[in-house]
Amino acid sequence: MAVIHAKQALLAEGWASNVRLTIAEGVITAIEPDASPGAGDVAVDTLLPALGNLHSHAFQRAMAGMTEFRQAGRDSFWTWRELMYRFMDRLTPEQIEAIAAQVYVEMLEAGYASVGEFHYVHHQPGGAPYDNIAELSERIFAAASQTGIGLTHLPVLYSYGGARQTELNAGQRRFGNDVDRFQRLVERAAAALGNLPGDARIGIAPHSLRATSPADLARALAENGQGPVHIHIAEQPREVQEIEAWLGARPVEWLLDHQEVDDRWCLIHATHMTDAETRNMAATGAVAGLCPITEANLGDGPFNGPDYARAGGRFGIGSDSNVNISLTEELRTLEYSQRLRDTGRNVLIPGEGSVGAFLYTSAAQGGAQALARASGAIAPGKLADLVAIDSRSAALCALSRDHLLDGLVFAAKDNVVSDVWSAGRHVVRGGHHVGRDAVFETYRAAMEELVSV
Ligand code: ZN
Repeated sequence: MAVIHAKQALLAEGWASNVRLTIAEGVITAIEPDASPGAGDVAVDTLLPALGNLHSHAFQRAMAGMTEFRQAGRDSFWTWRELMYRFMDRLTPEQIEAIAAQVYVEMLEAGYASVGEFHYVHHQPGGAPYDNIAELSERIFAAASQTGIGLTHLPVLYSYGGARQTELNAGQRRFGNDVDRFQRLVERAAAALGNLPGDARIGIAPHSLRATSPADLARALAENGQGPVHIHIAEQPREVQEIEAWLGARPVEWLLDHQEVDDRWCLIHATHMTDAETRNMAATGAVAGLCPITEANLGDGPFNGPDYARAGGRFGIGSDSNVNISLTEELRTLEYSQRLRDTGRNVLIPGEGSVGAFLYTSAAQGGAQALARASGAIAPGKLADLVAIDSRSAALCALSRDHLLDGLVFAAKDNVVSDVWSAGRHVVRGGHHVGRDAVFETYRAAMEELVSV
């Protein structure tokens, strides 16, 4: 059992002062406002529900900064993808584990308590499976275990190179499975997941409509009747055109017409939607998985946030390519993309109020739903996914409680984070992850090896 004493805390029902919060077996068991600190309490300044990072491809972190060099012709998402395939094709299981551990340390230090790992590199270079078909899933588990991040593992079904069931190209062979082999992989990974703490979850991730087929998608969903379902959808205009030419409908339109999309689902990006798609998607209860830094980096385009929010649509945020892992920057990039799109201010909120509070609390709830974690708010019975920030820091000290989350989102950097708990695991203390030095040494050695080849 552990007890935290916070000078102030954002509880499910609102702000409270001098809060004593008791954690047992990873769950919040008691909350007492207006309480004095007890001996042995962990004292913090301001306690918030910690966000889940709902979309990550951990290995891509190691290529951050390698693709910002303009070459002849026009660079695009698709030219970036070629570079990513070439980089990925050299990674060993040890390197993948080392990168994931470094990424998870950075996420925890940024204030995320959990991650949805959208895991699509399964096989050896060339495409032959490892002796253990879930070898690379288990490398991700090892990184999660070492760092204490809450993991929702999302093994990816990737069967085709593009729309109309074209063959995988050379760069995609490490991803490839038909539904039968995918199912074996999911079962093996689910069994191995039992070695992680009890808050770990597994779902499935059909990569995209272009990497699967209608029949395969239906089969994979029939075989996996529980747990989160994540899919990349409508990230790029070319993808929308190819799906429309093949299936006769735009990706979101087609998915909503052909599958029972509900609150198990997380639609990653959903960038290019018509007004009708935006309203219809909002009505499903699914989460839009928005990845604003990556979407900006890749030139994807802006999500239609105001209409989606007005329709009651749920959303969370993900760091996706991990080109820059920053919770505060992710949230402000989301709002700024909307301001640039609409040439207005304070855009992504239905009605009036604090934009920072709306973004933060919506993303906390949406992330928890998408990752199947009983978190996203501070209340008895919820997982202790918690982040403490320092309201006395320069970015925040002038602000009243009503503006504190605006300060966090728009004015602060992640260094206002002092402590993070993931399902009660107190892994960030004094702003640093407890294992950061060892994780970084292993990462640096792995990268030196990688670039020397
Ligand atoms: Zn992605």
